Amino acid sequence: MSHKIDQLLNQQLNLLKNEGRYRFFADLQRIPGQFPKALYRPNDGQKPYQVTVWCSNDYLGMGQHPKVIQAMHTAIDQFGAGAGGTRNISGTHHLMVRLEHELASLHNKESALGFSSGYVSNEASLAALAKATEDCAVFSDRLNHASMIAGIRNSRAEKFIFNHNDSVHLKDLLGKINHNRLKIIAIESVYSMEGDIAPLAEFCQIARENDALLYVDEVHAVGLYGKQGGGISERDLLTDSCTVIQGTLAKAFGLMGGYIAGSKVLVDYVRSFAAGFIFTTALPPVIAAGALASIQHLRQDQSLREQHQLKVRFLKNSLKAAGIPMLPSQSHIVPVLVGDAVQCLALSRLLLQNHAIYVQPINYPTVPKGSERLRLTPSPFHQENDINFLVEALKGEWKKLGLRRAE
Ligand code: PLP
Repeated sequence: MSHKIDQLLNQQLNLLKNEGRYRFFADLQRIPGQFPKALYRPNDGQKPYQVTVWCSNDYLGMGQHPKVIQAMHTAIDQFGAGAGGTRNISGTHHLMVRLEHELASLHNKESALGFSSGYVSNEASLAALAKATEDCAVFSDRLNHASMIAGIRNSRAEKFIFNHNDSVHLKDLLGKINHNRLKIIAIESVYSMEGDIAPLAEFCQIARENDALLYVDEVHAVGLYGKQGGGISERDLLTDSCTVIQGTLAKAFGLMGGYIAGSKVLVDYVRSFAAGFIFTTALPPVIAAGALASIQHLRQDQSLREQHQLKVRFLKNSLKAAGIPMLPSQSHIVPVLVGDAVQCLALSRLLLQNHAIYVQPINYPTVPKGSERLRLTPSPFHQENDINFLVEALKGEWKKLGLRRAE
């Protein structure tokens, strides 16, 4: 029997549908050894068919790396399926302890702490840190991820939003408050939807000058940048100036889970006070084993990172030559600007149906209205002919829909 709330909820869902913002999930079966191919099962009774995935956050295909898969098989045989409890109540298993040591070493920090996801690590850590004292002030980049916004909001600390990547605006806002207050500056290094990179050296200097804690979300950078995959902070030799480095095991490392790395006392504080860490079951040994294998591989192997950057450059050049408008990304994220939710959805559908190319539309509230886009993420395993095929398909469908070309 349907409840009266159903009618209300349906109205809300219909609003999304009318605006072209309703999210359709694609039923995909990734095929180990054939990255970035997957089997797609349409929900309209059509036969399943193979597609090329162009929007995966498993940026380096590590979710299918033989070393990762082997480590996970071994762990499940040796340690079983689950963690058995929260970290405090029997869930701190040996592989988790080893994983945290590896993460601390990767970021050259005293300590690290694992969480069930990158989202949870941001929410829980920022909420706890900004509550450390009553007069904390948090300075947050306008384009920060929802998980950071949630953490800051849940802390109830006073919040100042500075314009995206704008160090002058940040300085200005910092100058307006009492210097003795605890100050947290929260930024991302690589912005997930724009693909641009924070001027990290400038932010480090501002944090130093203002005696502020610098919290850097490196979710879209760990594994991908720096000699050992320690992110932009490692690439730019700024690890020591970042008070907290936050990352995920779910993107370049190919699994799931999140973490922070920092000083011993800071990590001990978050471990002891962050609700999102304390009141939930630990990651299972099988995930910790896969993550360990993945991180260790990417610390000593440069080839995937190099191949990745080559493919990114090739894709960007090809799109530019084809007149397809892109946002000016400095990273591996290639946002193709459509600028309208309905058109963006239509383009994504045409690519899937006519060309077996899977790329999900990105709409509001993930990005501002009018900046709807396809977010392309080339991997080392997309071949040049895959890229040429994608660009030709985009060109054709772009024309069919009458979309605006780049000047
Ligand atoms: N931070 C940023 C910038 C992200 O883009 C995301 C997820 O896409 C997260 C945090 C959350 O990470 P996870 O997917 O591990 O929960």
